[in-house]
Amino acid sequence: MDETVVSVIPSGAGHREIRRNNLEVVLRHLSLAGPDSRASIASRAGLTRSTVSRLVGELMDLGLVRETGPPQAQGIGRPATMLELDGRHILAVGAEVNVDYLAVLVTDLAGRELYEQRRAYDAIADGPGDSITALAGLCREALRALAGPRGRRRPIVAGLTVAVPGLVDAPARAVTLAPNLRWAGVPVAGQLRELLELGPAPVSVGNDASLAAMAEYRVGSHAGTSDLIYITGEMGIGGGIIVAGRPLRGVRGFGGEIGHMKMDPEGPVCGCGRRGCWEALIGLHAMLRLAFPGGPGHHGVAAGDPPEAKAATVARLARAGDTNVLAALAGIGRWVGIGAANLANVFNPRAIILGGYFTLLADWILPPAAGALAEGVLAPEAGGCTLTTSSLGFSAAARGGAIHVTDQIISDPALLDSRSQGDRGPLAARRG
Ligand SMILES: [Zn+2]
Repeated sequence: MDETVVSVIPSGAGHREIRRNNLEVVLRHLSLAGPDSRASIASRAGLTRSTVSRLVGELMDLGLVRETGPPQAQGIGRPATMLELDGRHILAVGAEVNVDYLAVLVTDLAGRELYEQRRAYDAIADGPGDSITALAGLCREALRALAGPRGRRRPIVAGLTVAVPGLVDAPARAVTLAPNLRWAGVPVAGQLRELLELGPAPVSVGNDASLAAMAEYRVGSHAGTSDLIYITGEMGIGGGIIVAGRPLRGVRGFGGEIGHMKMDPEGPVCGCGRRGCWEALIGLHAMLRLAFPGGPGHHGVAAGDPPEAKAATVARLARAGDTNVLAALAGIGRWVGIGAANLANVFNPRAIILGGYFTLLADWILPPAAGALAEGVLAPEAGGCTLTTSSLGFSAAARGGAIHVTDQIISDPALLDSRSQGDRGPLAARRG
C-alpha cells in the first residue's frame, strides 16, 4: 500500500523486475498526480522519452491508460497529448464482514465507484461459515451486476479484499482473532475463493480499521494528510494509524488495536473479556446501553437493525431533548476525547477521524470530545490535531479493500496479462 513513487531500481534486478518497476512508476504517477504527458512523465521519472512511450503503449494495450482530450500546449514545442488512468474494465472488489452488517463495494482502477451494497446481517448468530457464504452471495450479486462489457473490454476481476474487525494474519489470508464476531483462526480467503471461483485473482483479508484509514488517506475528506488516525465506531472500536504516509503495522501486523487500551480497570467488561477497555466505554454496545437503560426495544430498536438505524433513533431522541440520551452522549464524548488525547500524545497526528456510528451523532459527541482532547494533550493546541468525523461512513473499510486491490495492480500491472488470457472466473463462465 506504499504510495511513494518508486524510481530506484534494485541492484541485480532482472529484465522483468525493471519492466514491472517502470510500469508501476508510470501508473502510480498518473494515479496520484492525475493526467500528464509522456514527456513530463519521462522527465519526472528519470526515464527516456522512448522508454516512457513504450511503457505507455503496453499500458494502453492492457486498457489501463488512455489518451485524453485534445493536445495541450506545454511551454515551448508542439502540444503534448495528455494521458490518464483508465482501467474501466478492472473490477476491484472490497468487502466487509462486521458484527451487524455485510458490505461490498466495487471500483475500477481509477477508483470510480461502480457498485455498493450494504446489508444488515447478524454475523454472530450465523457463525463464520454461514457469514462467509452470505458475503460470497453479496459479492456474486455485485459481479453479476457488472458482468457486461465495460468500454470495449470484458470486465476483469482484479481481486477481492475483505475487511474484518479483528486481528488478521495477512500472509495466511486468515482471521487470527475477532472477539466481537467470536471468530478465531478462520481461513476467510480460502473459503471465499472456493465459493466465488475467482480464478487467479487474489483474495486478501485485512483489518477493517487499517483499510478504512487507507481509504481516508486516499479518498476521504482528509486525503493526503500524512499523519492520521482513523477510529471505527461499530460494536467494536478499532484503529488505523498512518504515520508519515505509511500504515503502522507492528511486528506481526497487529498494531492499532486502540479499542483495547485500558482506560478504567474497574470499568465494564469488554467483548475481549478484559475489563475497562476503551471499546467497552465508547463502542456502539456501550452507547446503546447508556442511552437505553431499559433496553433498546423500548424505543423500537431491534437487535438485527443496521447500526445506522440504531444511531438514527438515538439522534432523534437527542434532538427531542431526551435528558438520558443527552447525558449518555456527553459521557461517551468525554471518553472519546480522553482516549483521543492519549493517541495524540503518542502519535501527534494531524487528524483523528471518527467513523461508523460517531458520524451520525457528531453534533453531541464531538464538542465534549474536543474539550477532553484539548485538556488531555501536553502540547499546546492539541499538538495541531483536529478531531473530526469521516465522510466515508460505514463504507470506509470496504472502500479501503478496493483500494488495496487497485494498489496490487498498479504495483504489478503485468499480473493482468495472465488474468485476461486464462480468465476462468464467473464472468467468463457466464459468457461461455
Ligand atoms: Zn477489550
